[in-house]
Amino acid sequence: MGDAPTRVAVVGAGVTGLTVVFRLQVADPSIDVVVLEASQRPGGTLRTVEVAGIPLDAGPDSFLGRKPWATELCHELGLETTRPAATGTWLWTHTGLVPYPVGTAFGIPGDLGDLFHWSGLSGRGRRRALRDLVIRKRREDGDETLGGLLRRRLGDEATDRALAPILSGLFGGDVDTLSADATFPELHRWERAQGSLIRGAQAALRDAKGGGPRPPMFVRPRDGAARLTDELAGRADDRLRLGSRVEAIAREDDRWVLRTASGSVHADAVVLAVGPATTRRLLEPVARDVSADLAEIPVVSVGVVLLVYREGSAEQLPGGTGFVVPRGEAPMAACGLVSETWPEPAFGSRAVVRCTVGGAGEEDMLDADDADIVRACTSHLAALLPLPQEADAAVVVRWPGAVPRYLLGHLERVARIREHLPPGIFVTGQAYDGIDVAGCVRGATEAAEAARHFVDATRKERTA
Ligand SMILES: Cc1cc2nc3c(=O)[nH]c(=O)nc-3n(C[C@H](O)[C@H](O)[C@H](O)COP(=O)(O)OP(=O)(O)OC[C@H]3O[C@@H](n4cnc5c(N)ncnc54)[C@H](O)[C@@H]3O)c2cc1C
Repeated sequence: MGDAPTRVAVVGAGVTGLTVVFRLQVADPSIDVVVLEASQRPGGTLRTVEVAGIPLDAGPDSFLGRKPWATELCHELGLETTRPAATGTWLWTHTGLVPYPVGTAFGIPGDLGDLFHWSGLSGRGRRRALRDLVIRKRREDGDETLGGLLRRRLGDEATDRALAPILSGLFGGDVDTLSADATFPELHRWERAQGSLIRGAQAALRDAKGGGPRPPMFVRPRDGAARLTDELAGRADDRLRLGSRVEAIAREDDRWVLRTASGSVHADAVVLAVGPATTRRLLEPVARDVSADLAEIPVVSVGVVLLVYREGSAEQLPGGTGFVVPRGEAPMAACGLVSETWPEPAFGSRAVVRCTVGGAGEEDMLDADDADIVRACTSHLAALLPLPQEADAAVVVRWPGAVPRYLLGHLERVARIREHLPPGIFVTGQAYDGIDVAGCVRGATEAAEAARHFVDATRKERTA
């Protein structure tokens, strides 16, 4: 056993698992790293599909600019990044699309005049939101739901009609079950420091102005978000084993053994970069104490509808990156105007649009046939935007159980899970470290560092 090379096995080759491998390769090439991926394709949710001959992102299509970790990783890998060609987001209302005010932080306007006159809310809704400036701050510390916090400060109308649509999308919807501290910890900080979310937004916007150039809202590698995982997978090379679903994890002698249909892999450390349900199943025999907390991280399904319209259609579109929809008001939760935001020569003059469907409380939509989903989206879009009734080409991509829910108490839950893991087992990824790609990259970097320290210590023990 003393002569066996120290090995780290990574389970799951999404952006998280692949980043762990890359970080370990760079930090210590003497560590033997293997990444086991169930499917025949690396990248997980980062995936490209062809629609009318155009490759389009079917999962994430960009990274949040305010979180630098994914962009930095792209640059380390030599990938060029681009920023959106359009700015500004629209809100769906019963009377048509209304632009969000220009200066907002997490959807909250910093300019009182903007809020006072904004037609996205009724006069009553706006007056209620402005009471945020005078309402006393919460006495208790600790988590509350994101909906609870927004409703308390800004009222139900601003919460349901304006903020939930823009804040809850990445988190699978339903602000009333999401943890405020795990989703937007800044909001509680603003309330504590400024006594108001509006004043907090004003301060954040002032700080951003003073602190040099503001990062763009979104960033992505040229040619699409999936370029990041393509590049990472290329660098992982023969460390990447596709079609290797890990079925079970056990302890044998002083190593971990991972069982797959094509054989067993022995490792000193294991980094699990898969969803919470799979993690729970794999850890059940070796770490029963984490089971209850993992079960409290449910997942929700979403879908992406990619639409390519006829030549000439792009010219009709309004500027802007797209629009978001209050819960249940339209077939889609959000719509991205891809040809406005990320124009590509391959689009010609065709409008390219991407709708997100499903999410908490709206998963039934995903049970419908593709044709019905496409029809629901295109006819709704035709009523809102100068687009034809039908698209020339459409693809529906379903992502079953792809979005973990950060419910009330999520941060404590994750801390407890990590505290109760056996030595040499690490968990990272979307369920724990950040819902988005940048959060996953940061979490993966930390997990790689922790695994490296662990195998270093193991090596020293073996040679002592
Ligand atoms: C539709 C959609 C749109 C999104 N848009 C954005 C966006 O615009 N910007 C953004 O930053 N984020 C976005 N996200 C979130 C982002 O996709 C995730 O944060 C990120 O991709 C998660 O990566 P991951 O590696 O943790 O998990 P995954 O991508 O889920 O990868 C997990 C991998 O593990 C594999 N696996 C599962 N079980 C096993 C097993 N037993 N053995 C071996 N392998 C296994 C899977 O096949 C998969 O490849 C979006 C998510 C969705 C679903």
